[in-house]
Amino acid sequence: MGRIYLSPPHMTDVERSLLLGAFDANWVAPVGPDLDAFEREFAARQGVPHAVALSSGSAALHLGLLVAGVQAGDAVIVPTFTFAATANSVRYCNADPVFVDSERATWNADPALVAAAVEDCQRRGRRVGAIVTVDLYGQCADHAPIRALCDAHGIPLIEDAAEAVGATWAGRPAGAWGDIGVFSFNGNKIMTTGGGGMLTSADPAIVDRVRHLSTQAREPALHYEHKVLGFNYRLSNPLAAIGRGQVQRLSEMIDRRSTIRDRYLAALGELPGISFNPIDDRGTANHWLTVVVLGDNSACSPTELITALDSVDIEARPAWKPMHLQPLYADAPCHGGEVAADIFSRGVCLPSGSSMTDDDLERVINTAQSVLSA
Ligand SMILES: *Cc1c(COP(=O)(O)O)cnc(C)c1O
Repeated sequence: MGRIYLSPPHMTDVERSLLLGAFDANWVAPVGPDLDAFEREFAARQGVPHAVALSSGSAALHLGLLVAGVQAGDAVIVPTFTFAATANSVRYCNADPVFVDSERATWNADPALVAAAVEDCQRRGRRVGAIVTVDLYGQCADHAPIRALCDAHGIPLIEDAAEAVGATWAGRPAGAWGDIGVFSFNGNKIMTTGGGGMLTSADPAIVDRVRHLSTQAREPALHYEHKVLGFNYRLSNPLAAIGRGQVQRLSEMIDRRSTIRDRYLAALGELPGISFNPIDDRGTANHWLTVVVLGDNSACSPTELITALDSVDIEARPAWKPMHLQPLYADAPCHGGEVAADIFSRGVCLPSGSSMTDDDLERVINTAQSVLSA
């Protein structure tokens, strides 16, 4: 019995033959037909007009903020409950994150606190360069009021949908609520290229500028001509070939993760003090990770659950540690923070990978049941 990981890659012969096809054609470079096809096919699957494939979700966030016009010294509103990459990208632009807490309904940015943060920045004479929303654990934020706020104030909205490929909110796909959408294909995400990302937009000019900046901003000249600062952030063609296979299989992978969540709910949901990351029926989630929340009267602590699972070779992890509790961001302001801190102190991410077999799932459930019902 091998170790059961939290969210390992799920590869099949589909990805393997596409990867070998790229290799055999010698398109082993950050340019090639699979790269172009991956962008087209991803955009079509995701329901967005334009997409550019990049070396990571972090690169997509960085370039997204830059082309949105974020300048050094700007304030950028960011949810505190997220992975560090979201906030770090703000610092890459020499701008300052202003954190906002989550709401209970979605665990994502509380729209009222986003509005309060914008107002507070304006009162202090701080320019708000952008608002970043995050679609955590595969569920979208409540975007309608945030989108309206951005429109009213002329503030660009960057949607960090790194965890939310294939999810929707109020009928609109993840990523499409933002002026710019950002996706990650890191090894632990719902679909992976082994490392990679995508930036999407309805505005072709934005995507063209990002493509330009991602290839060291080379001007169209025979010699090497540069007018602006560029980056080497383009995805490689063989990795894009893997991504094409993952796009084809995305729906089945989402279905499997949804089934895994249902099984956890059925097996553990009635135990004392146990609840799960909420799924709001205004959207459809991709169920990237199922997070169990241990209440006051649960039979063990999050650390005890993680340790018990680890002792039988099963990986589980705490929920994201909020940014306002990170030493790196000790100086950054945060509006609220108690909700994210509470989820962090009680939440445990359970193995949720789509390649998990029914036997794997039973192993996780049996161990979790034994410590949670003690
Ligand atoms: C994974 C992730 C990222 C970063 O993506 P990489 O491809 O790992 O750079 C950004 N934001 C969130 C919310 C993520 O989960």
